[in-house]
This record gives sequence, structure tokens and C-alpha cells, in this order.
Amino acid sequence: MPSDVRMRGFERRSTVDEAVAWVDEHARPLPSESVSLESAYRRVSSVDVPAAIDVPAFDRSAMDGYAVVAEETVGAGEYNPLSFRVVGESLPGRPSDVGVESGTAVRIMTGAPVPVGATAVVPAEYASESEGLVELTTAIAPGKNVGRVGEDVRTGDVLLPRGSWLRPQDVGLLASTGVAEVEVVRRPRVRLVVTGDELVRPGEERGPYAIFESNSFVVRSLVERDGGVLESQRDVVDDREAVREAVTDGGADVVLVSGGSSVGCEDHAPNVVAEAGELAIHGVAMRPSSPAGLGRVGELLVFLLPGNPVSCLCAYDFFGGRAIRRMAGRSGAWPYEPRVGTLSRKIASAVGRTDYCRVRFDDEGRVEPLALSGASILSSTVRADGFVVVPAECEGYAADATVEVHCYEPRS
Ligand code: AMP
Ligand code: MG
Repeated sequence: MPSDVRMRGFERRSTVDEAVAWVDEHARPLPSESVSLESAYRRVSSVDVPAAIDVPAFDRSAMDGYAVVAEETVGAGEYNPLSFRVVGESLPGRPSDVGVESGTAVRIMTGAPVPVGATAVVPAEYASESEGLVELTTAIAPGKNVGRVGEDVRTGDVLLPRGSWLRPQDVGLLASTGVAEVEVVRRPRVRLVVTGDELVRPGEERGPYAIFESNSFVVRSLVERDGGVLESQRDVVDDREAVREAVTDGGADVVLVSGGSSVGCEDHAPNVVAEAGELAIHGVAMRPSSPAGLGRVGELLVFLLPGNPVSCLCAYDFFGGRAIRRMAGRSGAWPYEPRVGTLSRKIASAVGRTDYCRVRFDDEGRVEPLALSGASILSSTVRADGFVVVPAECEGYAADATVEVHCYEPRS
């Protein structure tokens, strides 16, 4: 049985790089599942999807107008209208049953099949029709205003390579070739285990020393962003059995434990993981979040997120989120837009420690580190536009240094 880590402090802290490497080794894309196109948005394709048909499947008109033999319009102009006999009409889904021959035209609408014999479409603004005749006031080149078979998609083309994160237009393209279901990477089922005897849920009665639980609201939003699906949230008291049951119960691919991750006497999660499986990393040389832990119980990946709200967010983003994104078939990279800027004040750090420093862009667009941004000050992340990571090998950044800001989601 592993020894009890509580109240002995951390003997050694892992580096962030070691913890990230552990995530990358253990968080692999999950097997695929088939989903209907209606729910394919923001999923990741797990196979190359080939086109089963040409799009368009027939030559179609790109304009409302008249389908003609292009060569017959030579010489037509505003002062020299040429006259054609209108022999039919082609509408979308309802082609003309007569073709176009010398001296004739077919009235045609955008998207309608181009009749046999026609080689171009003269737009309606260069045409005036009356009593079965249409006068055309422009010459037109062959192929003009005709969308050719396969000009959009050719049969057999790979529409989207495997591993594509499906955007709205990607889903539309699949639909345009008749695909109704697509193979995508299964979403990781994520359980939130929220520990802390002092916690009450918002909306509940709060005693004088109780605090409102906020971490689950942050983390469940992040899980959704990263492509995970919430399996359940279990609020548990600081009791070893309760924590063990909530962490090890089947049904999840990832368990995120909020609070109780450190070495205090109420911190049961590290021992629970060590006992049921492997606590690979406990204690990380970073600020905030140094009491974070990473481990697994069989196939289940467990992330111990310190309870302090900024630590919880930070540990999620460095480790838990990375795992969830990778399991969902995405890259592990930060899901934050990078923006380079100049620091307005220095950021102090220590060699050997990675810092997650909240910053805002000031009125001049410079990057201002937020002062007094302790691990418990959640509002620092709300004032912030993003964060700067100070890597372990770096002592900090001088004022005027160029830094990369990972921008939180934009407000507008
Ligand atoms: P812990 O990691 O359990 O030692 O908690 C560290 C600090 O974070 C304590 O002040 C807790 O009250 C606070 N805390 C723990 N869990 C939450 C939570 N879910 N929401 C807000 N604060 C929390
Ligand atoms: Mg606690």
C-alpha cells in the first residue's frame, strides 16, 4: 500500500514539462462513433470522407436568364438586339423537356439544369421577352454562367481528411454530397468530483463560514469548450470513502477532482488515486496550482485540481483540458488566441517554476500584469484579457519585453 502523503509536504515537485509529457503519453484519441450530421458540429472526423457524387451532379445555371448556344449571340449588343424563340423553361428540380437548337432559347432559373444543346446562359438583365420571343442585348462566351458537373466536388475527392475539426461549412459540405452520418472521435465522458465540507451550491442557504462553490461552473464550461461531455457532477464531503467512491465509480473516461488535492489532513484524493491506481505526478513546480496531481485508475485518467479557484482553472488548462482535447481527437495546444504585446511592467518569476500570470491590455494596448493575483482571487481572471506563461527556465520578463498573451475568449 502506498504511504500516506498527507501533512508531509511535497518531497519533490514535478516540472510542468514532465506533467505535460505524462498527459501526452496517456491521453490518446478515443475510438470513433457514428453521429448524424445534425450533431456533427465541433466534432472531429475519424476517417477520410470521400465524396460519393459529383457536385453539381448536372450542369446548372448560375443566373436567372436564357440558355442559348453561345456562338449564336456573337454581335448582339444594346443597339443590335438578337431575337430567339423561347421554346421552354428550366426550373430547379424541373428541367426543360426540350433542348436548345439554333435560333432558340430556354428560360432558365439559377440552379436549374442547363438544357441539352445550350452552352451558356445570358442573364435576365440583358434580355426582354414578349410573345414567345426574347431579345438579347449582349454576346456571351461559351460556358458563361454555367456551373459544370463536379466544379464544386468530384466523386472520390476527400472532402475532409481524418482529424478535421468540423466547422459549420464542413458539415454543410458533407450534407451537399448526401452524407447523413459521419464517423467522429467519441467525446470523453468527464466526471467532476467537487470536494469540500465548506461548500454550498449557489442558491442554497449559506452559513457564516461556508463558501459558495464556483469551481464546477468554471470547469464544466471548459470541458464543454474542449469537446468533453459531462458524465456527472458528484459533490462529496471530505471523507476518504466518499471521495474514493466518486472517483473510482465506472462510467467516465476522465475524472476531474476539485479541491483536496494537496497534503492537508482533509486531502483524500491523492491517496485514493495512489491506492486504486497510480498517482504519477503529485505537486508541480508552477504557480498557481502547485498542489495539482495527475494519475490514472486503469484506463481512467484522474486530474487533481487544487480548490483555489485560479489554481483550479490553471491546472485544468495545463493538464485536464489538454487531455480532454487530445482524447476528443484535437491537438493538445492551448485553445487561446495568441497575441504578442509589450509588457508595461515587469513580471517576476523564479527559475525552476512555471508561472501563469493574468494580464490585461491597457488603453495603449500594452500588456499589464495584474497585481495581487493570488490563487484565490477569481476576479483577477475576470479582469484579465488573458495570461502569459513564464516558463521554468526563465526568471521573469523585464518591462518592455515582448510576450505572448494567450487570450481568454473575447467578450464581444
Ligand atoms: P482545497 O484545495 O480543498 O484545500 O481548497 C483550497 C481553497 O479553495 C479553500 O479556500 C477552499 O475553500 C477553496 N475551494 C475549494 N473548492 C472550491 C470550489 N469548488 N469553489 C470555490 N472555492 C473552493
Ligand atoms: Mg478542500
